[in-house]
Amino acid sequence: MPTRIVCLGGGHCAATLAKHLNPAVHRGLIDVTFIDRDNFSVFHGFIHEMLCAKVQPSQIASPARRLFPPSKFHNAEIERIDLAAQTITTSRTLDGREYVLPYDHLILALGSIDDLSRYAGTAEHAQKLKTYSDCFKCRNHIIAMLELADIETDPAERRRLLTFVIVGGNFGGTEVATELHEYLYSLTQKEYPGIRPDELRVMLICAGGHILPELSQHHQPLVEWAERFLATSGVDIRYNTKVTAATPEEIVLSTGERIPSRTLISCSGTAQSPLLDGLDISRDERGRVKVDGNLRVLGHANVWAGGDCAAVPHPKGGTCPQLAIYAKTQGRQIAENLIATVDGGKPKRYRFTGLGDAVSLGRRRAVGHLKGIRLTGFVAWVAWRMTLLQFVPTWDRRIRLVIDWMLWPIFGRDVVNIRMDDSVGIRREHYEPGQEIVREGEIGRRLYIIWDGEVEVVRAEASGPEVLATLGRGQHFGETAVFQNVRRTASVRARTKVDVLSVGHKESLALSVMGSFGDTISKLPAKLPQL
Ligand SMILES: Cc1cc2nc3c(=O)[nH]c(=O)nc-3n(C[C@H](O)[C@H](O)[C@H](O)COP(=O)(O)OP(=O)(O)OC[C@H]3O[C@@H](n4cnc5c(N)ncnc54)[C@H](O)[C@@H]3O)c2cc1C
Repeated sequence: MPTRIVCLGGGHCAATLAKHLNPAVHRGLIDVTFIDRDNFSVFHGFIHEMLCAKVQPSQIASPARRLFPPSKFHNAEIERIDLAAQTITTSRTLDGREYVLPYDHLILALGSIDDLSRYAGTAEHAQKLKTYSDCFKCRNHIIAMLELADIETDPAERRRLLTFVIVGGNFGGTEVATELHEYLYSLTQKEYPGIRPDELRVMLICAGGHILPELSQHHQPLVEWAERFLATSGVDIRYNTKVTAATPEEIVLSTGERIPSRTLISCSGTAQSPLLDGLDISRDERGRVKVDGNLRVLGHANVWAGGDCAAVPHPKGGTCPQLAIYAKTQGRQIAENLIATVDGGKPKRYRFTGLGDAVSLGRRRAVGHLKGIRLTGFVAWVAWRMTLLQFVPTWDRRIRLVIDWMLWPIFGRDVVNIRMDDSVGIRREHYEPGQEIVREGEIGRRLYIIWDGEVEVVRAEASGPEVLATLGRGQHFGETAVFQNVRRTASVRARTKVDVLSVGHKESLALSVMGSFGDTISKLPAKLPQL
């Protein structure tokens, strides 16, 4: 009977793992199953080009059904890992029905997730770029801001809509900020003549004194070149600054400055999958699974790990960075070691020390180094693209990407906003002291339940604003406007830092049939005006 191998995750590490395991699957030596909630593998290297419509969204997603066969692919959410029983439990998205997959060898290739604890409001208001659906939402959000600004007459609101803040001066943040700047300005030439270029603002917030910390240790001249180039780009770079809070209409910086903006793109900070919590495995200070030099999880002879979720010892010391090239080469090494182990041979040490790094700076410029040779400008940009293209796992996606690159200079970039309506649903929102949550006179589309903090209910009187009530945790506001279709009769503003559950119109109506919810919500607290 073939040895049963299950790989958790179908990303970069898994794709090369499959490539190198598949000959043994053909021979009947092993039976391999890859599990992922998405039936595609995302290539993050071109995310900024997808966000800014240089390439069509699906070009950066390679179909799992072409990547993994003859290995099996299991498209479901991984729910539990049972190392003692050697089983994996998954659930299907349709209704949560569970499936149990037994294994002889397990590979952890779960990647990483966004760290939503960085500052107040990250989870609620930052655009995140880890999953494909987050990236797709962000792409549409950018175009939505332009459409909203185009019809807006209030200069302050136009400024808010046209200010885009990117947090993280690393490779990802720098690429997004520079590409976005170029994209937005190009759109004002033709598609959005109603928006003046001087109304646009792209900000890059860097925690350190320089951008590109990934290059600073060994390639400081490249960092300096990039900073000189960016100084001419128009991107507003803030060094030694952090974001401390985000709200639906403001971004608060560690300098105390409050930036009116409806777009914060988070490129900083990753955390590990909650699936790893509670497992009997060693983790490093960043939560990554500790493995030995052969990529075997410490203390577990039949569990292996690679890619972003693993703390893989770097042959030159320290651990490997969370980059696609490392995930891929680790996938290959795990495959070779697994086959050696199943065949009764000895696994080998992981020896890859990197090829180089490169980062695009917009306007067809990049900086990078390849096998120790430093490159800057246009040459670096061409080399960067050609190198990254090789990492795209399927040929059809590579060809489609090249076609898109040839087409956009002729036809322009895409400006279709495929609306993913998020005005419905229940979501958490964060507000800073003094911010208005609902405004008197507005049509009420949502009701709010206070999760944490306090708000004041304020009505404009001839003598000035009058505070009518103070509400705290567990209390709610905004229900009358939602249930009775009337305009807000007072404003509500945050008295302290406030987190609220914001409940959409349809959901409020649906929940109101539940006695407990409907009764509580429809009973107005004492002295609370109809909002
Ligand atoms: C914005 C951005 C830009 C980047 N740019 C670059 C770049 O230019 N160059 C570079 O080298 N690297 C870049 N990276 C990093 C690179 O993408 C990662 O290092 C690489 O993806 C890691 O590969 P992996 O196989 O470990 O994880 P991933 O490729 O992330 O794959 C993990 C898979 O596990 C699946 N998964 C996780 N949990 C579950 C679950 N519970 N149930 C089901 N499935 C699950 C996920 O759906 C995912 O498909 C970038 C990353 C980001 C976020």
